[in-house]
Amino acid sequence: MTTSQRKKCLVEFQLAEQPLRAGEVAIVGAGPGDPGLLTLRALMLIQQADAIVYDRLVSPQIMELVNPGAERIHVGKASGCHYVAQEDTNELLVQLAVKQRRVVRLKGGDPYIFGRGGEEAEFLVDNDIDFLVVPGITSAAGCSSYCGIPLTHRDYAQSVTFVTGHRKADHALDLNWKVLSAPNQTCVFYMGLHNAPTIVRELIANGRSGDCPVALIERGTTPQQHMAVTNLKNLEETIRMEGFQPPTLIIVGEVVQLADKLAQPAKAGWNSALIGPAAATATRRPA
Ligand code: SAH
Repeated sequence: MTTSQRKKCLVEFQLAEQPLRAGEVAIVGAGPGDPGLLTLRALMLIQQADAIVYDRLVSPQIMELVNPGAERIHVGKASGCHYVAQEDTNELLVQLAVKQRRVVRLKGGDPYIFGRGGEEAEFLVDNDIDFLVVPGITSAAGCSSYCGIPLTHRDYAQSVTFVTGHRKADHALDLNWKVLSAPNQTCVFYMGLHNAPTIVRELIANGRSGDCPVALIERGTTPQQHMAVTNLKNLEETIRMEGFQPPTLIIVGEVVQLADKLAQPAKAGWNSALIGPAAATATRRPA
């Protein structure tokens, strides 16, 4: 296909899409960070919107692609610091829509995976605001691919579970640890750094080996990606020694041992965010 044919395909795709209407809210997944992982629909919508409500998980590289004339409203939090309460974000979306803005609520990863996108959608429905949801690549999928971890390689895992490592303030991490500790499965903990001691204690108490491989991936798919491979019994020490900070994923399971073989240097035109000196920051810590 020639370059002009390829461009024509893209234009036709855009023409086939309904433009974002005034007074409508699009809840859009931005993926884990690399702009190359945006969907075409997400790209089109952020270029059409005149108000973008975004949080800290949306990478600056993606914000560069937003309609330059759009109002940008940051509602994100740095872990532990003051942030806009979820109720206020919900209300803001409604107010912008009532003012007939074309609103994109841009969220890291996929809006419906630990992203509170569901709560925002419910609030819009309750307030008679038209909305649509555009899925994004969730960080478990994006980060694991970039780090050479096939989450369900059939020789090692028959299922994968996405688990929250964080409950609402003052709630203990009360999960079905027996199920999560069963063999032949991969567990991906989102927001798990703070509760890593509980994760280690409960998984080992319920039957996982202390030698079970674990990967930590901070800011995966971005130029700041930082990755380490360790095991359950050394997880807390690795977090401390290597200074892991949110956003970080914790991947537990035998599939992690493939990272050595499958993590590859970035290839031109593919995971573009990792090209350049930053690609070398991925580190590996022996188990
Ligand atoms: N909706 C998001 C998840 C929101 S919860 C998604 O689908 O990915 C926030 C948590 O997601 C973070 O604490 C971290 O555990 C994980 N996360 C999101 N982006 C990440 C990234 N680029 N690298 C590592 N972890 C990430």
